[in-house]
Amino acid sequence: MSHRTVGIVGGGQLGRMLAMAAARLGLHTIILEPQEKCPAAQVAGSQITAEYDDSDALDTLAVLSDVITYEFENVPVASAEKLAQRKPVFPPPAALEISQDRLTEKTFLRECGIRTAEFIAVDSQQEIDEALAKLDGRGVLKTRRLGYDGKGQRVFDGPGTVTAGAYDDLGTVPLILEGLVPFVAEISVIAARSPDGTIVSYDPSRNQHEDGILRRSTVPAGITQSTHDSARDAAASVLERLDYVGVVGIEFFVLEDGGVLANEFAPRVHNSGHWTEAACAVSQFEQHIRAICGLPLAACDRHSDCEMDNLIGDEIDRIGAYLEQPDTVVHVYGKAETRPGRKMGHVTRLMRR
Ligand code: AMP
Repeated sequence: MSHRTVGIVGGGQLGRMLAMAAARLGLHTIILEPQEKCPAAQVAGSQITAEYDDSDALDTLAVLSDVITYEFENVPVASAEKLAQRKPVFPPPAALEISQDRLTEKTFLRECGIRTAEFIAVDSQQEIDEALAKLDGRGVLKTRRLGYDGKGQRVFDGPGTVTAGAYDDLGTVPLILEGLVPFVAEISVIAARSPDGTIVSYDPSRNQHEDGILRRSTVPAGITQSTHDSARDAAASVLERLDYVGVVGIEFFVLEDGGVLANEFAPRVHNSGHWTEAACAVSQFEQHIRAICGLPLAACDRHSDCEMDNLIGDEIDRIGAYLEQPDTVVHVYGKAETRPGRKMGHVTRLMRR
């Protein structure tokens, strides 16, 4: 095997699950993360405890790693580029850069020939009002950068909704106003591409969000074959256009007529793909490690239908009851502190096919 040590920027639960998958393949992992004893470092080979833009720490990570990846999309692009001068960094830093800004992301998706919601960049309260008028008063206002789990958003659902103060409330930062999509379902596709251009993808999951946070992913998603194919083909276009290596998670809105609009993509393993560790021979985590290390990609077939629930905040206290349920795979992230809205673990119930 040519890659023996995988560097991972970011030490949360995604880094943890990547490290566990790497260990099963006999690979060593090093985590770069400022928080000591982070979830990933608990199961990794070692940790460099430093900020993501610490120049010395990046140098050390580059020296010690054979290949480097990241587990969250707000890794500074400059850090990824600095690392890429020394060692292969996958997914490519360009994917990171595009996905960090909702405006460049949606523009890119359109360039790939993928439909999205209408969108207008807005940079003042006046521009919000003008843009909203063009969308008949129905839209979702989002910060262009650094939004996650529905944070930094305001919904306007018809003419006459109050916009006053919205620009200040969202922090006087660059914003995007999107048309309000009348979706009947939200789905996502987890796909992977290897350095030789092979692409594989798991079946889409149907995702339910609550307060902007993923609550449940269900597979199969209960969509038509043509919706499935559209989402899968869109994912493949994104991967090809970026000459991508690794796993990507792409979220879509499904319309009444079965058409799909892409909402966003994450250049990393994705929460809506956690079910793969329980229902597939090879999980999204191992698939990502295989891809970035140039190992053969595995088939994405699933042996069971399933439902994955996130355990958010003190829901983690229910773990004892889940452990008593049959065909239930429990995953706890090892976070030191339980906080409301914080993802603490997840549980996947298998349903035999
Ligand atoms: P996001 O941060 O873009 O993933 O948005 C969080 C959630 O808000 C999504 O999962 C949807 O449920 C909802 N949402 C986001 N954008 C739109 C939109 N343009 N139209 C309707 N609902 C949206």
